Amino acid sequence: MQPPGSDNTTDSLPKTVAVVGAGVVGLCTALEAQRSGFQVTLIDRDEPGLGASFGNAGYLATELVDPLSTPKTLRAALSMWINPHGPLSLPLSYMHRILPWLVRFVWAARPDTVDYGRKALHQLNQASVPAWKRCLTDIGATEQLVNSGYLLVWESADKLEDAKTHAAYMAQWGVKTELVQGKRLEQLEPELAENLSHALFFPEAFRVREPYQLCKILLSAFLARGGVFIQQGVNNLIPEDKGISIQTETELLEFDRAIICAGAWSKQLLKGVGLKVPLEAERGYHLTIDAKDIRLNHPIGSAERRFVMSPLDSGLRVVGMTELGGLKLKPVKRRFDSLYHHSRKLLSRLNDPTIPVSEWMGYRPTLPDSLPVIDRHPCHSQLLFAFGNQHLGLTQAAISAELVVSLMTGSSHASDCEPFRVDRF
Ligand SMILES: Cc1cc2nc3c(=O)[nH]c(=O)nc-3n(C[C@H](O)[C@H](O)[C@H](O)COP(=O)(O)OP(=O)(O)OC[C@H]3O[C@@H](n4cnc5c(N)ncnc54)[C@H](O)[C@@H]3O)c2cc1C
Repeated sequence: MQPPGSDNTTDSLPKTVAVVGAGVVGLCTALEAQRSGFQVTLIDRDEPGLGASFGNAGYLATELVDPLSTPKTLRAALSMWINPHGPLSLPLSYMHRILPWLVRFVWAARPDTVDYGRKALHQLNQASVPAWKRCLTDIGATEQLVNSGYLLVWESADKLEDAKTHAAYMAQWGVKTELVQGKRLEQLEPELAENLSHALFFPEAFRVREPYQLCKILLSAFLARGGVFIQQGVNNLIPEDKGISIQTETELLEFDRAIICAGAWSKQLLKGVGLKVPLEAERGYHLTIDAKDIRLNHPIGSAERRFVMSPLDSGLRVVGMTELGGLKLKPVKRRFDSLYHHSRKLLSRLNDPTIPVSEWMGYRPTLPDSLPVIDRHPCHSQLLFAFGNQHLGLTQAAISAELVVSLMTGSSHASDCEPFRVDRF
């Protein structure tokens, strides 16, 4: 029996789509659905682009093919956790809630699962920049993508072997790197060089100019093409025989199809349609430093301190921290202090207390195996999903959009998205 709303059973072609969630994934998805000829309504309880997509580092981290849970990261977890400036924190008040997820996270470090996850992430990441180029070319905004390169840096000279090992690992995945030291490092990043021993340079890496600005540009293109934005919270999804009703705070809206791109909040909406997904909010922090005369040439990742500094149009953005604290706790001041601590160690000129800085915390949507969900509902094929891109949601937004819309139109097979199935847990 065909599931209700299946493309094979509808006698008239579906025309209307709701996209729930106007982060970078929802915005790319809304535009992609328009390109396929749908009338698209984008719904968010907030203004577009103010979720995790607002404050990320703007870096397209296509080289990150390792899932977050591996035997190596689990071995390092304890020392990361007990280090007062370490990148990992588990607030005690959330500990009892996070435990079941942590068990799944540890279980995902099995060699077969890690291997499968690496291949799936590699497949998505490899397709990410070409998908962004298609999206931005279509809306005339290619200048938003910068072939910036990326520097992964080490301060300790005795970690030279680590850099060489990492370069060899990257080569296995087809990622080009160059080991840089001394004069070459100074030429690439003069502001930093004196504090560093060596670095790996990724010449083919990209960043965007400013993540929130990008969201605004995607939204403008969507609206200019006849898209509708409704600012309302979605409370419930109600699959009907052929279409889907969406209960917002004030009205019941009807569509032929709906795609849920609600980032770290997607779990609750899926629960209402009978699906349980172990999605967690991985809280990340940023500082945006308005230091006009301190200019970095590339996004910089510190291999030892595990944070990233990225030169954006809005200022120098310092990001980091993985805090497994759910969606309700307030930001923790100590995490901002840690970002100040690390960035000032690498860039001593940031010690000037008169430099204006803004602080922000956001929620990365993360599943235990680090893979997103890009799929349709197993029983109601008129309902689709694209969420859970963890630390890589900006990187993977345009390709996730292409995949989920091609699932909706039937131009790709469910097998293309097999690793990203919603019922894999
Ligand atoms: C500090 C930090 C740095 C990062 N750096 C990078 C980076 O350099 N590169 C990279 O690729 N990724 C990075 N990420 C990850 C990336 O930002 C996220 O994966 C990505 O933004 C997720 O996008 P999204 O559209 O899925 O979610 P979001 O941007 O969170 O959007 C979800 C939207 O859904 C809406 N919503 C939720 N529930 C409802 C509801 N019931 N009704 C109506 N609306 C709803 C929310 O209001 C929100 O606008 C970083 C994340 C953080 C926190």
